[in-house]
Amino acid sequence: PFDVLVVGGGPAGAGAAIYTARKGIRTGIAAERFGGQVLDTMSIENFISVSRTEGPKLVAQMEQHVADYSVDLMNLQRADRLVPAAHEGGLHEVQLADGGTLKARTVILSTGARWRQMNVPGEEAYRNKGVTYCPHCDGPLFRDKRVAVIGGGNSGVEAAIDLAGLVAHVTLIEYAGELRADAVLQRKLASLPNVRVVTSALTTEVVGDGDRVVGLRYEDRQGGGVHQVELEGIFVQIGLVPNTEWLQGTIALTPRGEIEVDDRGQTSLPGVFAAGDVTTVPYKQIVVAMGEGSKAGLSAFDYLIRLPVE
Ligand code: FAD
Repeated sequence: PFDVLVVGGGPAGAGAAIYTARKGIRTGIAAERFGGQVLDTMSIENFISVSRTEGPKLVAQMEQHVADYSVDLMNLQRADRLVPAAHEGGLHEVQLADGGTLKARTVILSTGARWRQMNVPGEEAYRNKGVTYCPHCDGPLFRDKRVAVIGGGNSGVEAAIDLAGLVAHVTLIEYAGELRADAVLQRKLASLPNVRVVTSALTTEVVGDGDRVVGLRYEDRQGGGVHQVELEGIFVQIGLVPNTEWLQGTIALTPRGEIEVDDRGQTSLPGVFAAGDVTTVPYKQIVVAMGEGSKAGLSAFDYLIRLPVE
């Protein structure tokens, strides 16, 4: 069995595995797709100490760094079920989709999250060509340009406020008849001169010129027909979904499905830790996930050295 089994191979999982392997304890990573969301990222400009890099390049470096240690990297392995140890200090079991089972004294869950998509024509084709999901990552790419934010919940309204300080103009599109964000955010939004809010609007299409986004079509849900907005960027903010479907009923999750962790990455199950976008930790970013993964790795080590000698 492993001392530490990391489930998920994004920045959080890589950070966790490097920290535990450096303690000389038996570490494995089971990942459906090593690299995670970073593989889908074109340009990264907020990875501190590196002015600019690309997702696949950063993933190759992460993989090389993991390979420097004796980590058992099991890529293309999807976990289906976690069976917690019967008693404290016992072995947890992770069942894989291919039928195999992995056993470990401690488990670090770092299965990440995925952005909810609008599922409209053009969205996929213009992803990273104007369509984006991350204002912290891509906001500066749209300096002095026109953008839309889709979604009037807290994350959408926060994004619109954030972007209004950088871009020329923001159109905020909300499906419901009113915004759902906190009142204080809505007041702030209403005070900004370069933001237009459109409610009762269903986005129907991302319009491009073959190369980049040039507009957005939406339908006025109160019978006002279809409208087109000319713009260069679209920030989709309709939810970040944690990859925890397989953990439901096993571990404490928030109503949104995030794994509840304390400030050491401890979950509701002794010996099971979690890190990165899959958890309640705010700000879903690469450097944050790496830091949280490293913390969870150290917490798992700390847990192991306190187990009674058998
Ligand atoms: P993830 O990267 O999501 O990795 C999750 C891992 O778990 C993957 O290996 C996945 O295959 C695996 N997995 C999932 N389910 C299972 C399962 N059941 N069994 C086994 N393995 C499983 N952040 C920045 O800081 N800067 C940026 O510029 C930036 N740009 C972004 C651009 C895009 C297009 C996207 C989508 C995200 C961007 N982010 C950026 C956010 C950043 O990528 C995430 O915050 C970060 O990757 C989270 O790391 P993680 O390890 O928690 O999860």
